[in-house]
Amino acid sequence: MATKLLIVGNTILKQEPIESSLLPPEKKFGINVGKEIELQRWTTTNNSHIKIELAAPINGKETWFAFSDHVQIRENGIDVRLDESRTTSVMLKNYQSCSTAGLKGLDQQIIAEMNEITPNSLVRFDDLNVKLGAAAWPLLQLPAKRALARAIADRGRQMFVNSGYRTIAQQQVLFNHYQAGRCGIPIAARPPRSNHQSGLAIDVEDWRGWKPFLERHGWKQLAGDPVHFDFLGGGTRDIRRLSVLAFQRLWNKHNLNDRIDEDGFFGPQTERRLKNSFVEGFDISNPEGFRVLRLTEPLMQGDDVRQVQQALIKLGYSVGESGADGFYGMETVNAVRKFQQDKGLEVDGIVGPATRQKLGL
Ligand SMILES: [Zn+2]
Repeated sequence: MATKLLIVGNTILKQEPIESSLLPPEKKFGINVGKEIELQRWTTTNNSHIKIELAAPINGKETWFAFSDHVQIRENGIDVRLDESRTTSVMLKNYQSCSTAGLKGLDQQIIAEMNEITPNSLVRFDDLNVKLGAAAWPLLQLPAKRALARAIADRGRQMFVNSGYRTIAQQQVLFNHYQAGRCGIPIAARPPRSNHQSGLAIDVEDWRGWKPFLERHGWKQLAGDPVHFDFLGGGTRDIRRLSVLAFQRLWNKHNLNDRIDEDGFFGPQTERRLKNSFVEGFDISNPEGFRVLRLTEPLMQGDDVRQVQQALIKLGYSVGESGADGFYGMETVNAVRKFQQDKGLEVDGIVGPATRQKLGL
């Protein structure tokens, strides 16, 4: 195991991970770009430094800190990327948290797509006197927002809204929780049937207090789900198909080899893709929408890694004793390199579109 520190910008090794000007001369050591230093081990710190243990001491000391922008770690000839911003990736079908706030990335992309198809089908209502739950999207159809404004003005106090607009991704997660008996959800509609997908429903706290005011202004409490109110006044449209269509278009933009019908119909084909989407959203930095997998510190982790590992194992490549554990570590990198070599691909240990395709993903 040869681990090397490459100096990629003139830097100063330090005895503490702080600004070098704050350290006395005996606690720092200047080093020029281009140098390579052999390491025993290294770890990242949480403040943009890496802690290194040298194979041969400098100034009598083996342990030093280096600013991560100025260095590169190379393990067995492979560069380890430091400070990768997104290190996890979870498929919607495996999302367990009771809060749907973790879906913000995918939600945002779906909402943006809806707005591209039909601008202003929904309007924000967080300019009203409301407080929002962590996962609530403050979006309603305009007539519903106007009626909500009247109800709030009528009562003259702030309304706490736990749920407003729900994307089909949020609704699918709630439905999954409901079906699995998780999170104490008494009832959840299958997407896209919920009125939350129409921008015509809210879930509120203090429903007893709000009920007379909401019902005076066109809203109606749902039997069996007291926190939930539907807007029944006129001038609205059924936009539930729009949220499905938005997802279908989004999927197709990022899955050129797995296109589905853009018909606004939520059938098994669309449901399967929705469940296989990553809650962080499609990666817009590469055309296929998948994360490019590479060795990072901390290790990249997630269902996308597991998928790649399972494909490798199926093709006879060992990814190490721990099997398909969802971590993109050294043994998985080595398996990818072997696979790339056998398939005549560029041997870089990085899973991008070309390697994915050859793996049948
Ligand atoms: Zn509701």
